[in-house]
Parts: sequence; structure tokens; C-alpha cells
Amino acid sequence: METIKQSEMNIGTLGHIDHGKTSLVKSLTNIWTDRHSESIKRNMTIKLGYADAIIRKCDSCKGAEAYTIGERCERCGSEAKPILRFSILDAPGHETLMATAISGANIINGILFIIAANEPCPMQQTREHLMIINLLGLKNAIIVQTKVDLVGRDKALEHYKQIKAFIKGSVIENAPIIPAVPNKNVNIDVILETISKLERPKFDKEADPLMYIARSFDVNKPGSDISKLKGGVVGGTIIRGVLKKGDTISILPGANLQKKGKHESYSEVVTTISGISSGTEELDEAHPGGLIGISTEVDPALTKADAFVGMVLGYKGKLPLVVTEIDALYTSLARTDLPTIGFGKDEPIALSVGTATVLSYVTGSKRNRLKIRLSHPTPIERGLKMAVMRRINHRLRLTGFAVMV
Ligand code: ZN
Repeated sequence: METIKQSEMNIGTLGHIDHGKTSLVKSLTNIWTDRHSESIKRNMTIKLGYADAIIRKCDSCKGAEAYTIGERCERCGSEAKPILRFSILDAPGHETLMATAISGANIINGILFIIAANEPCPMQQTREHLMIINLLGLKNAIIVQTKVDLVGRDKALEHYKQIKAFIKGSVIENAPIIPAVPNKNVNIDVILETISKLERPKFDKEADPLMYIARSFDVNKPGSDISKLKGGVVGGTIIRGVLKKGDTISILPGANLQKKGKHESYSEVVTTISGISSGTEELDEAHPGGLIGISTEVDPALTKADAFVGMVLGYKGKLPLVVTEIDALYTSLARTDLPTIGFGKDEPIALSVGTATVLSYVTGSKRNRLKIRLSHPTPIERGLKMAVMRRINHRLRLTGFAVMV
């Protein structure tokens, strides 16, 4: 069976929380992503979910029916050839989903925008998601009109017109709108065909590699023979460049040498890539796309229990600067449901930087210029949009984004 070993495209999902995203992702990938029991984990880290699928096409059949995620054509039973491996990225909850879309914009190559037909369009959350799509210029999008089976044909058509009016003038005004009923497998083939025709990201093989770490573990079983111990493993998304087996790499800010007390102290980790994986596939090299596992020669005690989440990996001397205090320009999203008050002195905020969410404090503000102190050293690239979440009525709400200057 022919296969494609690594994901070639990351697709983000946006849409109102009750509009059937989970069931759509399941029918497109056969993987149920609704497994986040807690939305914001230790260190407030957002746990990104990844669901991979290979779109295959039957050469003997015509039209959307030729497209499947199965190994055989659903119509004629012939072997279906792989044409695209993609990953659907998911983050739990409305606020974290939007924060992830902003701070992970470099990770996302395409969008599935889900809008249910049984409610008027746009609902508040849907409106906010379109605002973010516009803000980030995420043109490579497919709109999926879900729950069309719950309304009649006339209502569905009327709702389609509402969507068209809603997206008019936005960056996705010409995006395809596909009515679908995921749990009845209606039009899933059309969505697969459309995904396979989205613009694919171009990889710059020559760029200095940069990976955001989203997980880290110790893969050894307790009591393993010390001579057979495997080095620490990190998982994440490559933003640019290519990582190869045997490469010498650096991880920043690195090993946390002093975990307790006010003064955390980190030390850069320099190690060698001993293995690369994508799901169950072993790779010699990896490019941007999907969740990549990197085996290293680091002491596995350092990487256990997600200790390296939010860090960056790449060539030594070629990684973003590690900072604890920054000047930043702040852009408010002007959400209609939130007060647009100024920042209080030392107001705590959650700052999303790549795959890290860092508790931070606004130590000074003048118009849209903020001084921000981060609670622990964080690698930040200039120009990167960082989502800013503020505590409003005891809840973290996304209010805008900041860019380091
Ligand atoms: Zn066929």
C-alpha cells in the first residue's frame, strides 16, 4: 500500500463551539479529537490536538466520489492512491481556539470554517472567528455548512445566502461553501476533494529550521536497564526548514535547573537528533507539516511530563532570543462583548507565544505600547503575533494581540 509518510499541510478548524466540529473532524480523519479533558493545563499551556489523514483518490472513478480516506474506493473497490496527507489542528474552547489561531498562525496553512445551518448566521463566535481569519489573512479556507439535515432545503438555501452576505468583503469571500452532514457521511468526499485542491504550503528547505515544541516525554518504562535507556523525546510542529537525523540541535530556553522559587534558571540544551517520527512512520528528515517526534540524546528525566512544552528547537545560534521583558505593540480585537478598558498596573495576562502560553504582567502601558514582564524566560521572534488573554469576570478572554518591538 502506497503511503505518504509526513503530513504536508496543517488545517485549523474555526467555528462556533456547538456547530459540529468534532463530528466533522471524525469523519474526515477517523479520529475523534474531543479528548481534551481540561482546556488549559499546567502552566496554562494549550494542548494542541492533531488528527492526521491521507486523502486517496480512485483513478477509475470520476468526481468527488473518487475521494476517500479509506485504502479502497468506496464506489468501485479499487485501490485508491494517496494524494495528500494533512493534519487537522484543534484547540479546545472558544477563547483558546482563537488564541491558538493567532499565535499559531505560522503553523496553520488552511482553515475549515464550520457554520451550522440550524442557527442564524453569524452567531457571535462565528463573527469573532471571521474577524480573526481577516486579521491573519487566512484565505486558504473552506466553509462547511453543517447540520443541513436539521433544516429543510429552503432553510438551508436561505442560510447559505446568509453565509454569502456574512463573508462578503472578507478575505474568504470566494471560499467554497459545502453543505455536509458528517455523521451521515453526506458530502465528506466533496470536502476531501476540496481540501486536496487547497493551495499547498511551500517549504523553504534552506531556511534555518525552527520547531515549536508542543509535547515532551520520557519514553522509557520505569526500571529500564540503564544501558538501554532512550534519550528524551520532544514533539511539535516545524515552522520552517528541514530537520535531519544526525543534526546537532539546540533547545531553548532549555533545561529548568531550578524549578522552585522566584528565580527560574534555564540552560540551553545542545544535543543530536537520533530519530524522527511522524505518527508510526520513521523519517530521515522532516519538513513543516503535522506533529513531528524528535528523539534526542538528552537525559530523559529532563523531558518527562511535558517539561519542554513551549520551547523552541533548531540550530544553535539561529533561534529566537530568550526574553523575560519585552516592549510590544498591542492591537485590541474590539470584541463587542468585552469592555475595552486600559490595562491596570501589573495586570496579569496570558500571552500565547507559538505553543507556549506564559503568565505575564503588563508593567507599563502608553496608548498601544505595552511593557510586558514574562513569568519565565521565553523565546520570542520579532514580528510574531502573540495572543493576549485578560482575566475578565474570573475568566480568561482573548482581547487582542501583541507584537514584540
Ligand atoms: Zn473507484
